[in-house]
Amino acid sequence: MTPSSPALPLQHFASDNYAGMCPNAARWFMEAQTSGHEPAYGEDRWTQQVSEGLRELFQTDCDVYFVFNGTAANSLALASLCQSYHSVICSPVAHIETDECGGPEFFSNGSKLLVGESESASARLGKLTPDAVETLVTKRHDIHYPKPKVVSLTQATELGTVYSVEEVRAIAAIAKRRHLKVHMDGARFANAVATLGCHPSDITWRAGVDVLCFGGTKNGLPVGEAVVFFDRALSEDFAWRVKQAGQLASKMRFISAPWLGLLENDTWLANARHANAMAARLHAAIREVPGVELLHAPQANAVFARLPQPAVNALHAKGWRFYQFIAGGGCRFMCSWDTRPESVDAFAADIRQACTP
Ligand SMILES: *Cc1c(COP(=O)(O)O)cnc(C)c1O
Repeated sequence: MTPSSPALPLQHFASDNYAGMCPNAARWFMEAQTSGHEPAYGEDRWTQQVSEGLRELFQTDCDVYFVFNGTAANSLALASLCQSYHSVICSPVAHIETDECGGPEFFSNGSKLLVGESESASARLGKLTPDAVETLVTKRHDIHYPKPKVVSLTQATELGTVYSVEEVRAIAAIAKRRHLKVHMDGARFANAVATLGCHPSDITWRAGVDVLCFGGTKNGLPVGEAVVFFDRALSEDFAWRVKQAGQLASKMRFISAPWLGLLENDTWLANARHANAMAARLHAAIREVPGVELLHAPQANAVFARLPQPAVNALHAKGWRFYQFIAGGGCRFMCSWDTRPESVDAFAADIRQACTP
């Protein structure tokens, strides 16, 4: 059931992982397929080449690992930073807190997540602040409390906002002073870099980030995320952790080779810029619609809005898919690397119609 543009393949606004792989990723996937036998478990030339490519991209000698998904990337990265009695400071809406089924706690053998406050202006934008981190880290020092060890930032955030370079630096500075490591959930890292127009190193190791989970899936890969250790001392034994967790792909070239397609000609950035532009287009198209209450201006590839429930029902009945996961009935409209302007326009037109009594 295609809502408004029956001639074109169906598109949705539920998640950027509804999209398939981008042509460049698909092309390199087939290169890996047609180039004969290759050593397994990451010893292949594609994996070596992409790891080298990521070191060039970040302009530093980082350690790179590939896993199947973001939950594993985050959980295993955090587990490598924590002992079981440690804790991880994160936002109350962090994916690691709300959407990983306890994966970080499980893989770390019990490290606790400590969520920051939820009522401040920053918190409503899905961001941690230096003050929130400071409050949590100084709250208790006794032996009965799990010892804070890591700060985890999501960039872009779960609410489609982006930490500025200065904001990342300020949080990382507190972390350093308090002897915490800094983890970045970068499921939408590309979208954040596209928004900021900075170099990828500016919001990672140059700002004080120790480990980045660099999302490829939502950016146009078939599958796979890169775990990038800027502090290489922290990746000791990480390969064993990946294997034990069932995340070591034997034919790893099919995860890594498509990354070459993302890195080639900065396709990762072009994909992210496009997704961000489609969110801006949708935001502009529905901002004046009576009944639509936009929650905040999009800074990445998501638009958050409250719509009257009958309008939501009407849109769902028309076949549009999107998530309503914010307490209070907020809708999330997510754009991807392949979202067409026509799909945005058709969706916006249907939103307008659904909101018109
Ligand atoms: C999508 C997403 C992930 C990864 O989720 P998986 O389904 O495990 O791949 C991680 N963090 C954020 C913020 C995400 O949106």
